[in-house]
Amino acid sequence: MKILLPLVLSMVTFAREATAQDAQCASERAAMVETIRAYARSDASGVGQQGFSERVLEAMGRTKRHLFIPERSCSIAYADRPVSIGHGQTISQPFIVALMTQLAEVAPDHVVLEIGTGSGYQAAILAQLARKVCTIEFIPALAETAAKALRELAYDNVSVRLGDGFVGWPECGPFDAIVVTAALGQIPPPLIEQLKVGGRLVMPVGAAYTTQHLTVVEKTAPDKTTTRAVALVRFVPFTRSQN
Ligand code: SAH
Repeated sequence: MKILLPLVLSMVTFAREATAQDAQCASERAAMVETIRAYARSDASGVGQQGFSERVLEAMGRTKRHLFIPERSCSIAYADRPVSIGHGQTISQPFIVALMTQLAEVAPDHVVLEIGTGSGYQAAILAQLARKVCTIEFIPALAETAAKALRELAYDNVSVRLGDGFVGWPECGPFDAIVVTAALGQIPPPLIEQLKVGGRLVMPVGAAYTTQHLTVVEKTAPDKTTTRAVALVRFVPFTRSQN
């Protein structure tokens, strides 16, 4: 009893601190969603007249971004800023994650491909809006950490593959939407091939280490696409396996 009481008290204190931290994170996450909503009203945001769908904002409001970053800090995670995830890579600022998700127009029965798993955060958002998400990461350590985080948080409809996303993932497709989270000067032709007619690809197109055009490609027929540039963005480079 003498030993048990301090143990029980410290467990209660720990539980109280954890609850206080959860509440703090939840309020910072709610503030993040309001920032995203407010920024969407500016013309430069690229969201368009209709603004964000509530489905996208709800997913952003539910997803524990702090569990996908190395520091696990809520004040870092929920600021509208990119965050370093090591290996020279970053997780995009929340607004850009929401924007790419919105532009991909993901529906509950969709199969979605993401190129550039990174932390797994964007995949977690997509997983809540789609039936199945396949995501490819080039850096082994990131693929492993992201797969672990997604597994622990029970995003069971996400598959992570290690490799060069340029060639896509034909066995997982065809895809209703493709989201590419690294910048390249060209749209990889295999990705257009693996996109369904009526599907959308969202990708930063342009040279590395400069601003790129966030681009939406819609496949309107088996051999036809329309392309529009939506906003200026700055992404990490898309690496090719022969580099
Ligand atoms: N979507 C991520 C952020 C991605 S940062 C998130 O939510 O955290 C871009 C990622 O693309 C990096 O992790 C980088 O390693 C990866 N990447 C770059 N080139 C790639 C390629 N050819 N195939 C797959 N992933 C690639």
